[in-house]
Amino acid sequence: MPIPRSGVLAAVVLMVVTLSPGGTAAGGTRDGDAAAQLRKAANKARTDLQAATRQMEDRRRALAGSQDKLRATLKDLAAADAQFDRIRGPLSRLANASYQQPGVVGSMAVFGSGGDMSALRSTADVDHLADAQQSLISQADRLQKRKQELASAAQELQSENAVAQTRLKQQIDGLKQKSAQLTAQLEGMLRKLDPDKRLELGCDKSLASESTKFPNGLIPDKFLCPLPQKGMKLRADAALAFYKVNAAYRRRFGHNMCVTSSYRSLADQHRVYAERPGFAAVPGTSNHGKGQAVDLCDGVENQGSTQFNWMKANSGKYGWFHPTWAYSNPFEPWHWEYGTDSEH
Ligand SMILES: [Zn+2]
Repeated sequence: MPIPRSGVLAAVVLMVVTLSPGGTAAGGTRDGDAAAQLRKAANKARTDLQAATRQMEDRRRALAGSQDKLRATLKDLAAADAQFDRIRGPLSRLANASYQQPGVVGSMAVFGSGGDMSALRSTADVDHLADAQQSLISQADRLQKRKQELASAAQELQSENAVAQTRLKQQIDGLKQKSAQLTAQLEGMLRKLDPDKRLELGCDKSLASESTKFPNGLIPDKFLCPLPQKGMKLRADAALAFYKVNAAYRRRFGHNMCVTSSYRSLADQHRVYAERPGFAAVPGTSNHGKGQAVDLCDGVENQGSTQFNWMKANSGKYGWFHPTWAYSNPFEPWHWEYGTDSEH
């Protein structure tokens, strides 16, 4: 069975064409569609490759079975050969005897090896000897026939297996090629995505609930998602919302938001606390330690600035807000949080 390689590749190529600049993706933002398309294409590539791999494995198993059959046939052939060799001697003696003494054949041929010749003759059981001759000849016939059958079966299996081996090798080469092509195509699609979308694809929302199982400031790195700002990280749900507010900010101000602090480990919070005791949150209580707070710059840190006011007016749409306490206790216009406003 041939692999439906051309179908898979055509589908991927179609996706790439749809995603390329100027492509017409219907509904929603083009990048939103692109991310969904990429996920879909990756899933399809994976299932197609899995199906083709299973097909190849079936073929490999069938070939192994056929090779076993070939081995068994060759073994049978060797056994038939050995059996034939055992009767070859008596058979040729029988032939010689019948040529020299047409009357007394069998006795000499089958048993005749010198000493007991006269004893054999004395039994004069000619019928019995004739039966023995006849049985020897038909045994030889049967064995010859079986040897021919086995030899031709083995030859057939050998050539079938050679063809199957070639096809299997072609299929494996095809799979390797297909896997490489699909990987390259999908990577190409990924590169075409907007950097925020790339981060979004890599940020698994389900990690958010996992990360809440860890104490404040002790969330392992793998449960956090990176922000576009180098070295900055947040809990998955906060990060996903941050990508959106950051994109809106960039549309308004022409560049990414400026972040001086995001998730803070317990040790980092301790350092901040040690510098400003009474102002910074006590280690183990900060929303930075939950991965759902950022400290901003680029003007946002000044209450009443254009940037601060823009954030005040727009961040709520994306689940971000400036907490009530941060207006006075202590005054931290740069501090923004994800979730719901609660005094703490
Ligand atoms: Zn802060």
